[in-house]
Amino acid sequence: MVKVKTIIAPKKDCKVLLHSCCAPCSGEVIQAMIKSGINLTIFFYNPNIHPKKEYEIRKNENIKYAKKVGINFIDADYDVQNWFKRAKGLELEPERGKRCTMCFDMRFERTALYAYENGFDIITSSLGISRWKNMQQINDCGEKAASKYSGITYWTYNWRKDGGSSRMYEIAKEENFYKQEFYGCIYSLRDKNNWRLQNGKQEIEIGKNYY
Ligand code: SF4
Repeated sequence: MVKVKTIIAPKKDCKVLLHSCCAPCSGEVIQAMIKSGINLTIFFYNPNIHPKKEYEIRKNENIKYAKKVGINFIDADYDVQNWFKRAKGLELEPERGKRCTMCFDMRFERTALYAYENGFDIITSSLGISRWKNMQQINDCGEKAASKYSGITYWTYNWRKDGGSSRMYEIAKEENFYKQEFYGCIYSLRDKNNWRLQNGKQEIEIGKNYY
């Protein structure tokens, strides 16, 4: 049985807008906030996810979980053309490089704007819980986005600590979440498939694996 931790929000009685990248990454974050009595809303804005089928699966997993735990879920636009426009010239960037900075910037800019327009004071994200990501890069992008609006703070909590990373997997298994096999964008899918083919494995099949 998963033992969920309690955490302290950066401000008393704050309203938190949690940018969620997917159900597996946000499961532990959501449970910890609920247990800690934090007023949270999930914000799903991930125009990076490709193809649309993968995007819909990831989003629907997140909606299903939000309903189960009784948390409000904001389904933001899938403005994928805008994402591709911003990714132009960055197609060959490695993961954790400049394309990822653009991608985090874009997602946090929308999150911060929504927070500002809808009375939230804290924004944060499940993105940093993955050990494959550069937490400093994510925090820098989050703080940059929040700094554009007065009264909005980006919460740089390290969701990996105090067993957060392992609980993330335990919750994913417990909930039988969809298991994505690549980060999300078309370029990460390309790179992962190239790696798989070079290592004698089959290409990724969208919608196949669950925890
Ligand atoms: S790998 Fe692709 S989806 Fe992931 S952060 Fe970088 S650009 Fe965005």
